[in-house]
Amino acid sequence: MTALTHEVIEELIEENCCHECEGVGKDKVCVRIEAIAELPTRFGDFHIVAFWNNRDEKEHIAIIKGEIVGGEDVPVRLHSECLTGDVMGSLRCDCRDQLEAALRMIGQMKKGIVLYLRQEGRGIGLVNKIRAYSLQDMGLDTVEANLALGFRDDERDYAVAAHMLMSLKVKSVDLITNNPKKIEQLTQHGLQVNGRIPHVMQPNDHNRFYLETKAAKSGHFIDFSGKPRLAEQADRPIIQGMTEEQIAALYE
Ligand SMILES: [Zn+2]
Ligand SMILES: [Zn+2]
Repeated sequence: MTALTHEVIEELIEENCCHECEGVGKDKVCVRIEAIAELPTRFGDFHIVAFWNNRDEKEHIAIIKGEIVGGEDVPVRLHSECLTGDVMGSLRCDCRDQLEAALRMIGQMKKGIVLYLRQEGRGIGLVNKIRAYSLQDMGLDTVEANLALGFRDDERDYAVAAHMLMSLKVKSVDLITNNPKKIEQLTQHGLQVNGRIPHVMQPNDHNRFYLETKAAKSGHFIDFSGKPRLAEQADRPIIQGMTEEQIAALYE
C-alpha cells in the first residue's frame, strides 16, 4: 500500500485550506489541495489528490505512489487530459498508451507521481479538438489540422505542475520524459529537477499500438486511412523494440 498516512493527509489538507500565494508563471497560477483518497487501480495502489486552482474550473489531479511528501528525486510524469484517447481508446492519438505506460511504470516503482492536467486538446478544449479532427476527416493535412488544434500553452502547464508538486512538498523530481528541454521549463518555475527518466513503453503496448496503427491505417478500425496521428501529448513515446525511425514513421 502507499505510504500516505491519515496524519499526512490531514496535515496537507489543513495547510492547503488557507493557502494563498502570488502564483506561479505569467498567469500567476495558484493551486490548492482540496481532497485526497486512496485509489487502487489495475496498475497498482495509488492515492488521488484533487486540486482547486485560481484561474479556471479545471480540477487538476495528482496520482501518487509511495512516500512523496518531502520526497527527493521523485519520478514525475506530466499527462494532458485526452478524453477521446484516455477514456474512449481513440486511435487518433496515443495518449492512452502513454498514460497507461506511465501508470504501469510508477505502479511498479517505490514512489512516483502522474500529474493529470485537465487541458484537453492542448488547452483549446474538447469541442475545438473534435473540430480539428473533423477538418482532418475532410482532407486537411496535419499541419493545417494542427494549426486548428492549436499549440499547447506549455508554460502554463509547467507553472501548474510546479505548484502542484510544491503543494505536495516534493523537494526534487526526476522527470519522466523523452525531451530533455522540458526540464528547463519546470526549473524556471522554481522546481528542482535532478534527473530525467526516459518514457519507455513496454513491448506489449508496442505490439498493440503498432498493430492498431497498422489496422487503423488500412481502415479496419476507423476510417482515417493514411491520416497521421496528431501528437497530443507534449512528448513522443519510446517504444521498447522499436527504433526511433520506426516510431517517427508512425507520426509521419
Ligand atoms: Zn499558491
Ligand atoms: Zn489524445
